[in-house]
Amino acid sequence: MTARQPIVAILGHVDHGKTTLLDYIRTTRVAAREAGGITQSIGAYQATFKGKLLTFIDTPGHAAFSKMRSRGASIADVVVLVVASDDSVQPQTIESIKHIKAAGVPFVVAINKIDKPDSNVEVVKAELTQHEVFVEGYGGNTPFVLISGKTGAGVDTLLETILLLAELEELPYEPDAALAAPIIEAKIDPKKGALVSAIIKAGTLHVGDMVYTDSSSAKVRAFFSDLGVSITTATPGMPVQILGFDTLPSVGEIIVPVPLGSDLSALRNEMKERSEPSLLNLPAPAIDPSIKQLNLIVKADTAGSLEAIMGSFSSDVNVVTSATGDITESDVLMAGATGSIIIGFNIRVSPSVQKLAEAENIIIKNHKIIYEILEYIEKKVLKMMEPTIDEDELGSATVIKVFDINGDHIAGSRIDSGFLSIGDTVHLKRGDVSKNAKIRSIRIGKEEVKKVESGKECGIFFSPNLDVREKDVIIAYKKKLDDI
Ligand code: GDP
Repeated sequence: MTARQPIVAILGHVDHGKTTLLDYIRTTRVAAREAGGITQSIGAYQATFKGKLLTFIDTPGHAAFSKMRSRGASIADVVVLVVASDDSVQPQTIESIKHIKAAGVPFVVAINKIDKPDSNVEVVKAELTQHEVFVEGYGGNTPFVLISGKTGAGVDTLLETILLLAELEELPYEPDAALAAPIIEAKIDPKKGALVSAIIKAGTLHVGDMVYTDSSSAKVRAFFSDLGVSITTATPGMPVQILGFDTLPSVGEIIVPVPLGSDLSALRNEMKERSEPSLLNLPAPAIDPSIKQLNLIVKADTAGSLEAIMGSFSSDVNVVTSATGDITESDVLMAGATGSIIIGFNIRVSPSVQKLAEAENIIIKNHKIIYEILEYIEKKVLKMMEPTIDEDELGSATVIKVFDINGDHIAGSRIDSGFLSIGDTVHLKRGDVSKNAKIRSIRIGKEEVKKVESGKECGIFFSPNLDVREKDVIIAYKKKLDDI
């Protein structure tokens, strides 16, 4: 399995040398000449070390780092905590340690400025223990490296350590997954409009894609790499600066694709209605809701057991991602963005991951016996195929005539029972075929209404814009909230 390049953040007290270190790595490790360009700051850059790529977020400091936590998960996969050896632990060092621990991100201590005559490495190590950072030789195994951002001494060892920490994280490389790109910078350029920098964590971004975040949306007009070059596709790990957002989104929001067939203006309206973004306001699943599939994220303890589980799935199962290792906060994030259930085999679910999953309404099933996993999935698939089992019917209607106006297929319908309301989830049934959608709008004559009752006739707009036909049956339902 290929691994995604790690995303690295640099934290530490002011003047301890974060910017100097970032500049040193940029000038020595970025292949800028190739593109004939000068590097351009887009909020992050890619460095190459021993044939491996690393992405550095180049706004240092814990304030940026804490903003760059989206939905409880950190954008960075690895953190470098810079402590100057002539100044030791200072208030912002302590703040940074708190942030790193809260985010649960692996980190390496870079003891900097070792070229200075008044440098005292042992004092730094000893003082770190007072803040529960125990480096090797001081009762712990937090890695540390002695460096000078000025002369470059030790920087290679630091890069090696970062790659090692990333390797232990087993970051999955998933160019085919649904796009998930957290925003690291957003600003207005008087000529170009909104300039939004993001790092692709999963999926692939293309020019022309329709994307959105909690507060904004875009038809991606163009985007630039960290070398200031216009590119047309970007894969996991790459930082990009995107043109085309209609408003300025916030740092930490995640760019996800507009689901196939759904309409951007409806999504925009939905977003406007959200009073404040909260943990529960997840972006819509980036999957086609009219195709019935059980989306899964699978994690297992070993490659062998992962293979055994995956080999036993039926074709109704769509594995969004699979990897060995414990369930992480980014798995939960990914489950939210793709409407997936997380399946674990013989692994650990940390309390912080469990808490995030509960907040995000994500199901995690962790078992020690493969048979139990397969039995669970089989039941889930059956439920999905027979939509009435765990649903309460709210109302039903029959399509009498279809009107096509401005590309919208509007179902002129008669309500047969109960009520139909805006926002209802519906099955559209034609013989044995059933598609799922949401009611986007209901009109009686020219007037938009929120709700229609049995006996009335109305025009119904769906999201996605389904191909409805005469005599189709519309069933509005509410899911019963139980897991099998
Ligand atoms: P930041 O505030 O953490 O980004 O710190 P800077 O990178 O701006 O560094 C603050 C000062 O320390 C600058 O004058 C740097 O030249 C100096 N500095 C940074 N790293 C080193 C180092 O390794 N050795 C020495 N001697 N000076 C350094």
